[in-house]
Amino acid sequence: MHNKLGFALLIFVAATTGGLIVSSNQNLRTAQQPPQSNRQVQESNTRDDGLQLRDFRPRSMLKGRTTQLKKARYPVVDVHTHFGFRLKGDQQRRDAFVDAMNRHNIAVCVSLDGQLGGAFTDHTDFLWKKHKNRFVVFARVDWVGRGKRDDPKTWDCHRADFGRNVVEQIRDAHKKGLSGLKFLKQFGLGYKNPDGSLIKIDDRRWDPIWKTCGELGLPILIHTADPAAFFLPTDKTNERWEELSRHPDWSFHGRGFPSREELLAARNRVIARHPRTKFICAHMANNPEDLKSVAQWLEKYPNMYVELASRIGELGRQPYSAREFLIEYRDRVLFGTDGPWPELRLTYYWRFLETLDEYFPYSEKEFPPQGFWRIYGVGLPRAVLAKIYFQNAQRLIPGLKAKYELAKKEMRIKK
Ligand SMILES: [Zn+2]
Repeated sequence: MHNKLGFALLIFVAATTGGLIVSSNQNLRTAQQPPQSNRQVQESNTRDDGLQLRDFRPRSMLKGRTTQLKKARYPVVDVHTHFGFRLKGDQQRRDAFVDAMNRHNIAVCVSLDGQLGGAFTDHTDFLWKKHKNRFVVFARVDWVGRGKRDDPKTWDCHRADFGRNVVEQIRDAHKKGLSGLKFLKQFGLGYKNPDGSLIKIDDRRWDPIWKTCGELGLPILIHTADPAAFFLPTDKTNERWEELSRHPDWSFHGRGFPSREELLAARNRVIARHPRTKFICAHMANNPEDLKSVAQWLEKYPNMYVELASRIGELGRQPYSAREFLIEYRDRVLFGTDGPWPELRLTYYWRFLETLDEYFPYSEKEFPPQGFWRIYGVGLPRAVLAKIYFQNAQRLIPGLKAKYELAKKEMRIKK
């Protein structure tokens, strides 16, 4: 199996890079000289010399195995969802996605869109009034608070009583059913100090937050930095060029941003300083391009965990290493998607984790949105699958196990 995989990958890379160059206006064109004879003109027309990367839709000629998985093998906990951000309070879409959860065998979703403070119950009401057992809620710290968004000097997080107030908000939300905290990538790449510099992830001012979560047994789901390619120049060597050319604002190259290594190291210093607090590092600790480093971190920090959301594209292009990693660290990996997504995308998660299918898409989008490649399944052993799908989440996230059992019953009735 392994040889076949590597070979297919090679062919794809050759097919998608061979003969393509970046022209000065950043459109990719075939590197052919102007044709000389009529015969060459004809050939060049069928070769479509003017093809641009954005129009390139190669169809694989492989007749590989296609395992149709319509749902997960075991009832799943999805620890990374955005039911506030993506649904914007739309109750119909919420209910429709709960139906999709039933179809796909997703028992409980962790919504990361709660807000600490007075607004905490807005999000819990939205989810719990009708679907109490299907959601647990993580909340975000309100850095701006009563301040003005465009004037960091006025933000709550720079007031002397900030740490104390947030601790109070955490304790209050904890009584109302809070299961953890969520930190966005803006923490390190967006939020500012009064002098306009970016706030530091390991600033001592945030220590009371980490400490309190440790005391209350609330895990922190933290998104730090972004894919490695987003910190490099958007040029012809950038493997995410296609995506960055559509979203230039996703690039963190230059412009005064800290390096990716600096951000990840600052996050790791916080994890080291607070061994009693559990950290779920989003998107494979945002370093799936370098699984060896992630493995070293997991060895070094027993309170560190990772989750898979929106990174099967990265893991699935290195199936041997990914499989080895997921088996070795089966107690430290949680399942996540970053959804709610269209149902087709969910099936790619099942297919990636459960089958040995080769060279399939990782997204329902016609043009792969996170790197111009396809992926391979890692066919995990069932015991590993069970840990990643639900057992690790049950162990880590307060309130989850009871809901999970009730959700399983609900799903059985709905079937
Ligand atoms: Zn997310």
